[in-house]
Amino acid sequence: MATSPFIIVAIDGGAASGKSTSSKVLADRFNLLHVDTGSFYRAVTAEFLRRGVAATDQPGVRAAAAALKFGTQVRGRSAQMEIDGRVVPDADIRSRTVNDHVSHFAAIPEVRTALLAYQRGLAGVARARGLQGVVMEGRDIGSVIFPDADFRFFLHAHPAERARRRASEGQQDSIVERDRIDSSRKTAPLACPPGATTIDTTHLTPAQVVDTMAAPIAARTATP
Ligand code: C5P
Repeated sequence: MATSPFIIVAIDGGAASGKSTSSKVLADRFNLLHVDTGSFYRAVTAEFLRRGVAATDQPGVRAAAAALKFGTQVRGRSAQMEIDGRVVPDADIRSRTVNDHVSHFAAIPEVRTALLAYQRGLAGVARARGLQGVVMEGRDIGSVIFPDADFRFFLHAHPAERARRRASEGQQDSIVERDRIDSSRKTAPLACPPGATTIDTTHLTPAQVVDTMAAPIAARTATP
């Protein structure tokens, strides 16, 4: 019987482009660790705000970023980041305040450096748990974190459709502004990495988005 190789699936795209919904389904279908790196930037942002560190205070951010101790809890197939031994609750990382600040902290190179090795190390967490690989979503996964990923996808959708999706989740989120900051920063900007498969999700159902990504993965992994 053929054994499936360990795989890395990188999914990048702007806010509300369909990354989370599809990566969770892919994680279950192919027995992968699901890693939402946006939640990491959100957790770090919530922690900086809790400590009273502003994004404009670059020395303060640098010192705080270097001092953070990261750990991981795996819930189901989902990797949850611990900061100093505690998972920051979802309600705190999805707040309006974090929405408004996260892109400013994420643009600071030392914040990205603090998270880089941690994110790469999650492949080892997946292996140790006997999972078949990792599906990691974010902005720079296929470009910086795993440029040699086995599969790299870049999702995008019309801004009006993305705003509708966030509103239907009951979230107030300035996604156009976040995308503007994320795309224009100097370090690891949001951009489609060369060679990635681009998917416009505007008129696709979540199931159609998943099927588009699952087809090449299934062909490689011999998963039914
Ligand atoms: O994915 P989500 O919208 O939750 O991400 C929140 C923010 O985290 C993004 O707007 C971006 O500023 C930052 N981020 C990033 N790089 C990643 C993932 C998220 O800069 N890989």
